[in-house]
Amino acid sequence: MLKETVLSGIRSTGFLHLGNYFGAIRNYVRMQEEYNCYFFVANWHSLTTHPDTSELRTSVHRVMAENIACGLDPEKVALYVQSDLPEIAELYLYLNTMAYKGELEKTPTFKDKVRQNPENVNAALLTYPVLMAADILIHRAVKVPVGKDQEQHLEIARNYVQRFNHRYGNVFPEPHAFNYGSKLVKILSLDGNGKMSKSENQMNTLYLADEDDQVIKKIMKAKTDSGPSTPNEEKPDYIENLFTLLREVSAPDVVKKYEDDFNNSSAGNCIIRYGDLKKQLAEDMVQFITPIREKVNAILGDENYLKSVMKIGAEKAKVSAEATITAVREAMNLNYH
Ligand code: AMP
Repeated sequence: MLKETVLSGIRSTGFLHLGNYFGAIRNYVRMQEEYNCYFFVANWHSLTTHPDTSELRTSVHRVMAENIACGLDPEKVALYVQSDLPEIAELYLYLNTMAYKGELEKTPTFKDKVRQNPENVNAALLTYPVLMAADILIHRAVKVPVGKDQEQHLEIARNYVQRFNHRYGNVFPEPHAFNYGSKLVKILSLDGNGKMSKSENQMNTLYLADEDDQVIKKIMKAKTDSGPSTPNEEKPDYIENLFTLLREVSAPDVVKKYEDDFNNSSAGNCIIRYGDLKKQLAEDMVQFITPIREKVNAILGDENYLKSVMKIGAEKAKVSAEATITAVREAMNLNYH
């Protein structure tokens, strides 16, 4: 049976964090066994918000190494760098003709970026979802393992597929966001302020590169409160976030203990001790992060290996990208000889 095609990418804008791991990479690692997978380092996307490229090479190498250290096998998947595939830029141009300004201006990620960087509202930032659609459609991927923050971009990509297929004939299948769980994952920043992200709020972000003492320090000062006021209360999002992390890295009986403590607590009878919960979480998180960090450092020390991974990845990805661009040009009457 023909395997379904999967695509996903991570921007080279800094160190990877737990949001990237639980929202994206963990799925990649599982999917590589079952699907025809393309994963890439999105270095073009990083230019929209990080125009200074002096650290870009280091950052691309790091994201590559972090993906491999988390379990991606360059022999099983095509692991490549976005700028090694100029076919994506060509498809981006065609898709831009069916991308409407009003629709792009409404995307929450665009609005966020404008708020964060009001002095650099460039056209590439506005058309970020168009480039993302080109990334996906260049391999005619149908499953896109991403975090919840990307859901709307997938909807936009499906709009372009419908518009393209309607205008020029059936070339693309519709891509969908994918997660093994029932819902897409979102890891919050440890202060509860928005999602965990690579370049903002670094003291409240847990990076795969963090040393043990940093992990402990950050978790111990994560936001909590004085506890629930009634039994079985709904958890505030910053508390739920700590439980989400606990469920990921701690033993089931540990999780159950704190769940029970929370559910049995009320005003005047607070059983749950957030200090203990955070201490346990910090300990388990150190066990989780340390082997990944050590592996990343070993891979980064072998530049020849990294270069060969990127070269082989680009060659694999090119085969599929060329086939798509040929089909697109044909459908659009752009083939003259
Ligand atoms: P980015 O860091 O924006 O390049 O995102 C790379 C991947 O990680 C995308 O699939 C995102 O959906 C996912 N991701 C980033 N931040 C988070 C987060 N805080 N929670 C869950 N997934 C995330």
